Order: sequence, then C-alpha cells, then structure tokens
Amino acid sequence: MGNTGYDIIVIGSGAGGGTIVHALAATSARILILERGDFVPQEPANWDPEAVWKQFRYRSTECWLDGDGQEFLPYTHYCVGGNTKFWGSVMYRFRREDFTAVEHLDGVSPAWPIDYETLEPFYERAERLYAVHGESGTDPTEAPRGPFPHAPIPHSDEMAETMKHLREQGLHPSPLPLGLLKPGEADGCILCNTCNSFPCLRLAKSEADVCCIRPTMGQANVTLWTNAYARRLLTDPTGRKVTAVEVERNGETLRVNASLVVVSCGAVNSAALLLRSANEKHPQGLANSSGLLGKCYMAHLATMMEGFHPFRKNHTVFQKTVAINDFYLRGPDGRHPLGQIQSQGRAHGAMAQSVVPWIPLWAYDWWVARGIDWLVMTEDLPRPANHVTVEPDGRIRLHYRPNNLAAHRRLVKETKRIIKRLGFWVVMTYSVKIKNTTHQCGTLCFGTDPRQSVLDPYCRSHDIDNLFVVDASFFPSSAAVNPGLTIAAQALRVADHIASTDLRST
Ligand SMILES: Cc1cc2nc3c(=O)[nH]c(=O)nc-3n(C[C@H](O)[C@H](O)[C@H](O)COP(=O)(O)OP(=O)(O)OC[C@H]3O[C@@H](n4cnc5c(N)ncnc54)[C@H](O)[C@@H]3O)c2cc1C
Ligand code: SF4
Repeated sequence: MGNTGYDIIVIGSGAGGGTIVHALAATSARILILERGDFVPQEPANWDPEAVWKQFRYRSTECWLDGDGQEFLPYTHYCVGGNTKFWGSVMYRFRREDFTAVEHLDGVSPAWPIDYETLEPFYERAERLYAVHGESGTDPTEAPRGPFPHAPIPHSDEMAETMKHLREQGLHPSPLPLGLLKPGEADGCILCNTCNSFPCLRLAKSEADVCCIRPTMGQANVTLWTNAYARRLLTDPTGRKVTAVEVERNGETLRVNASLVVVSCGAVNSAALLLRSANEKHPQGLANSSGLLGKCYMAHLATMMEGFHPFRKNHTVFQKTVAINDFYLRGPDGRHPLGQIQSQGRAHGAMAQSVVPWIPLWAYDWWVARGIDWLVMTEDLPRPANHVTVEPDGRIRLHYRPNNLAAHRRLVKETKRIIKRLGFWVVMTYSVKIKNTTHQCGTLCFGTDPRQSVLDPYCRSHDIDNLFVVDASFFPSSAAVNPGLTIAAQALRVADHIASTDLRST
C-alpha cells in the first residue's frame, strides 16, 4: 500500500496504542501503526542486570529538560510495545472511588467523566486480553467484580510467611493481579527474578507487543511501520480535521493520510506531538482550545523500600505477589488516602549500584540477597503548573513539582513500621522523585466540558473530529495503583465506539 488509503493511523504501540490496534484489527478498517522504535531483540541481554541497569541497553537515549532547564534521561522506552515491554505487569483495576472526587491531604482529586461501572466490562475484556492472574474478594478496596481469568500466582514460602505476619499485624494483604502467560507451562513464564524493568526473553510477559501487536501482524488490514517517528499532525484549512501525519522514516520525511488518527505516544510524547503540530487554526497546539494541552501532568509519588536482615537470606525468586491496600482510602490515623504498598521484583546488585556506583557489586549482591523489596505509591494531584512544553529546538521540557508529599511520607513511615514489625533490622528507601516518568499520565485529560478538558469521554478531541488519544494522557487523576489496565480498558472502550459509530468516515 502506498502512503494513502489507510482508514486509521495509530501512533504508538504501547498499552493504549497496542490495545486499540488489537481491537480494531477485527474490523475491516485498514490500519497503519506508526512506532518510533523497533522490536526489542530476543537475546540473553534481556535478562542481564548489567545490560539493563548499567548500560541502559533498551532505554531511550533522548534527553529531556526539567523545569530548571537541566537535562535528564527519562526512564522510558521507545519500542514495539512501548513501556509495557518493561513493566512489572501488575494489572490493577482502579478502585470505584478513583472515579469520584476524593479529598486528599493536599487537595481534591477530581472525578472522572465515567464511573467504574462504565469501564467494568472493558476491564474484564482487558484482563482476558492480558491474561491477568488474581483472586477476587480478598482486597478490601476492590469494587464488586467477577473472578479473574486466571488463578493468582502462588506466593513463595517467604512471601506466604510474610502474608501470615501481615495478617497478624491486623492488615489485609491480597495477591497482586499480574499479567503473565502460561506460568509453569513448558513454553510459558518461569517466574524468574528478572521481570520488572527487564524485557521477557521468553515472551511470556503480558505486554502490548506480545498480546496485541504480534497477533495482528498476519492480518492484511494491519501494517506496522517501525522506526517511524510522527513529527506533526496536519489539519485541513478549517482546522477541524486531521488530514495527514508527517512521519520521519529511513531518513525521509513522508506524509501519510488516513480518515482517522489515534495518538498513543505516552502522556509526555502525545502532548509534545500536539504542541509541535501548532498551526494557524491551532496556534497554541492542536486540540488546545481549553488551554490544557500538556497540563496537569502526573506520575505518582513512588518510593522503593527494602527491609534488610543480615542473618535472613531471602530465597524467593519471584517476589512480586503481595499487595497491601489497607491505607488506600484512608491512613491509619486520618481520613485521607495514603496509597498502595506492593511487593516488588527482587532487587539486583547492579540495580542498586546504579544509585551509588562506588560501592562494590559484591557488597550490593550480599545486601540484596538478604532483603525484601517493596514499592510504595501515592496519588499525585493534577496541577496545571505541572506541564509539558517543547523547546524551540524540539526538546521536551517537563515542568514537575510533586504534590501530596505529606501523604506519601506518612505511607513510607507506616510501611517502615510494617517492615520492621516483620523482623527486618534496617529499612532502606529510594526514590527518583521528579525524574520518575514511568507512570506518566494526565496531559490531555478527558471530560464533558470542552473548556475544562482536551478530550471527550470517548477520548476524542473536543476540537478535532477525527482525532483520538488513548494513552495515559486522558487520566484526569492518577489514582494510586498501576495505570496499565485502565489505559487498556479505555482503549477497548474507544475501539468499540469507533467501530460502532463508523467514525472512519468523519
Ligand atoms: C519499568 C516500568 C515498570 C512498569 N510497571 C508497570 C506495572 O507493573 N503495571 C502498570 O500498569 N504499569 C507499569 N508501568 C507503566 C506502564 O508501562 C505505562 O503506564 C504504560 O505503558 C503507558 O501506556 P501508554 O500507551 O500511555 O504509553 P507507552 O506504553 O509508553 O507507549 C507509547 C508508545 O509510543 C511510541 N511513540 C512515542 N512517541 C512517538 C512518536 N512521535 N511517533 C511514533 N511513536 C511514538 C513509543 O515508542 C511507545 O511505543 C511501568 C513502566 C515502566 C517503565
Ligand atoms: S519468565 Fe515470567 S517472570 Fe520471567 S520475565 Fe518472563 S514473564 Fe517475567
């Protein structure tokens, strides 16, 4: 096929883009996927902590600027499958309360234009698509739901023991919902210790490349261009319709046409793409009549915590199986939400050494072998001052000052107490603070009022009829559980909407 004649162009193949391609591939629409990265090679380095954590073999080499103009390397990946290729595959539904306005210590987290019940059937489909393992009825914050498609991943002996001791502390731990393919089967997941932040050498992680893009590759109506960077979107003279995408590929700049364009570059890059696409009708960036394009960036407040005991070796290989949601809706001594605690994949010496490089690797290896790892996450609130801009030279600038810090500090303090009560002598904490871009969201929020949102409740631009955005940028609030399943569920909902209303002819 030439450069014209596509019904739909999807830009980006991560959680949002990959999922919507999978759903729309079942229609007769001719779809072109534009992905700036390539397939991640299947190679031994996939599971090599030195390659992943010291050489940053798979990370983007693109520098962004922070609010002060300082360069930093964002923790993000440009490849088929996007960041899902490297995720921990923790696949949570948002809580029912996350869709409503909730008062936090630092202000109000706004309501979504849809409720939990609206997204529920799509959560169910997304859980099937991504083969989610979990157990309903054990998490005190979970909204009513049917059974998970697959039984929970069994805890290691140590984590089973940890669950018991957490219950003795009066807590209500539950199994983490995880997307893994055929665990324990000959060609499936082997529950190894190089999952979160590593690509899966066995292609057994539920991620957008494996679950969504590869299954559509044999179809005549789906075309994938890798190493294809969408530089700008072009509109017709009225400014109401996108007519083409300007793409850089193989050293050339091309214009590709389609009736409908779905942007899914991740919250920062989607905002940057629309800002770069400013034209006469949209001088402040495409789809920006609200003035909110690129604003209200969120990323979660996240702290890694490790309990250490010098005489207690941790034999667990796959550690990421436990969640503690007791403080999700309110803290132990207050009425405000604090966030979520979840066990993490095992830390590696090389990972720890990337923080303080002068400590020898053997010392780190000795240390982490006696540690148990946790991630503590708190919701950050949407503030217009936290925003994405594009510099005159094209570089991305991320202005971000974390908020809701008091709630996060309380959660970290409480988690420290919990870990100490589990018998650990020392608790280490680490946070990348403002450089944390892994859970980026919120730069093109959806809503019913075009003056207060960029997208409508089906993620269609209020301003441009044939433009949809289905990555994490549509989030009006960040909640405090992992974002991936919610992105995927909404992408399925948007796909149904596009298919049912035949918006390809707009
Ligand atoms: C190490 C790590 C662990 C994580 N663990 C979890 C977890 O356990 N659970 C969870 O829910 N979430 C997790 N996340 C977050 C999760 O991966 C993201 O929330 C999710 O992938 C975001 O989906 P998206 O569609 O918004 O963007 P992405 O998945 O990032 O996809 C964006 C895609 O767009 C492409 N792209 C960008 N710009 C352009 C352009 N101009 N032209 C063409 N293509 C472009 C990118 O290459 C990429 O493929 C993790 C993230 C990381 C990095
Ligand atoms: S084998 Fe399983 S645990 Fe290991 S990286 Fe792959 S999906 Fe993750």
